[in-house]
Amino acid sequence: MEDRIVSARRQAEDDPQLEAGLRPRSLDEYIGQEKIKEKLLIYIKAALERNEALDHVLLYGPPGLGKTTLAHIIAWELGVSIRVTSGPAIERPGDLAAILTNLGHGDVLFIDEIHRLNRSVEEILYPAMEDNALDIIIGKGPGARSLRLDLPPFTMIGATVRAGLLTSPLRDRFGVVDRLDFYTPSELEQIIMRSANLLNVQTEKEGAELIARASRGTPRVANRLLKRVRDYAQVKAGNVITAAVAEKALQMLQLDQQGLDQIDRRLLLALVEKFEGGPVGLDTLAACISEEPETLEDIYEPYLMQLGLLKRTARGRMVTAEVYTYLDLPPKEDPQQKLW
Ligand code: ADP
Repeated sequence: MEDRIVSARRQAEDDPQLEAGLRPRSLDEYIGQEKIKEKLLIYIKAALERNEALDHVLLYGPPGLGKTTLAHIIAWELGVSIRVTSGPAIERPGDLAAILTNLGHGDVLFIDEIHRLNRSVEEILYPAMEDNALDIIIGKGPGARSLRLDLPPFTMIGATVRAGLLTSPLRDRFGVVDRLDFYTPSELEQIIMRSANLLNVQTEKEGAELIARASRGTPRVANRLLKRVRDYAQVKAGNVITAAVAEKALQMLQLDQQGLDQIDRRLLLALVEKFEGGPVGLDTLAACISEEPETLEDIYEPYLMQLGLLKRTARGRMVTAEVYTYLDLPPKEDPQQKLW
C-alpha cells in the first residue's frame, strides 16, 4: 500500500532533493515540537560551551514527523558534519566500523530505523557509544585477539517508530530520548505556507488550512498534498491555491477533510460491519485491508487513535462511538439497553 497519497513513509515521488529543499535548516526554522526544541537548544549550547560532543539522542515517533530533519539541524547547530545511514543498510560489523573510524571530532552519526540493526552490528555500537572505543577481533578460533581502537567523541542520533522496538542495552546508551508528536493543524498550516513559498506557488490561508487538516498531523504528507494541489491549481485554476481549489483537489485525491482515504474508511467499516465495532485482534484487522500488522500498528493506527476513532484495548482494537457519526451510520445498539 506504499502508493497511498497519505502514507507518511517516504515514497518514490518524494524526490530526495526536493525534500531536502523543503527541509528547515536550523532550529529557528523548524516548526512545532516546541518542547523538544527547547531542550535541544539548551543541550546544544551546553555542549558547545564545554567543547564536547552532544550526548547521544534517540528520536522516536511515526514516520514523516521530522526525525531526519531534526538530526540534520542538530549537526548544523553544532557546526559539525553528519553521516547518514540506516539500520538495514549496515549489514556487517565491518561496515559500521568503517563508518565510525571515518567520523571527525564531534560529528553526528544518524542511523534511521535503528531498531533494524542486526545484533552483531549493534554490539559494536555499545563500546563505541559508551567509551568511544571500537573493539575489533583479529583472527579466528583460540588464537583470536581483541584489539581496542579509540574513536573521536561523536554524537549518535537514532530514529525509530517506537522506542520499545530497541533492545534495552541500546536504548540505555542514549542520554536524550524524545518522542515526536503529530503536528497541530495550525503548525501544519505554517509548514505548508513555508513550503508554498519555497515552491513559488501562491497560496491563500484558507487553502493552506484545508490541506493542513487533511495532512494527518504529518509534515511529509502536508508537503506531498501541497504538491498535488499545486498541480491541480496550475492546470485547472490559474495557479493560485484557494480554499475552493484545495477542496476540489483533495476530493479528486479521494481524501476527506481529516485526510482519511478509502483504506482508512474500509478499515473502520470492516470493524463496524464484520466485527460489530470490535474488539478484534491486530492480525485479523490487518488481513482485512491486506496490510502487514506492523504497518497498521506503527503507521495507520496512531492517526486514527489521535482522531479518537479507534481504541486499543487488552482484548483488541475497537471503534469509538464517533465512528458511527463519522461514517454516517446508525449508532450501535447497546446490548445492555436491549435487556430492558
Ligand atoms: P522522518 O525522518 O521523521 O520520517 P523527515 O525528517 O524526513 O521525517 O521529514 C519529512 C519532510 O517533512 C521533510 O522533508 C521536511 O521538509 C518536512 N518537515 C518535517 N518536520 C518539519 C518541521 N518541523 N517543519 C517544517 N518541515 C518539516
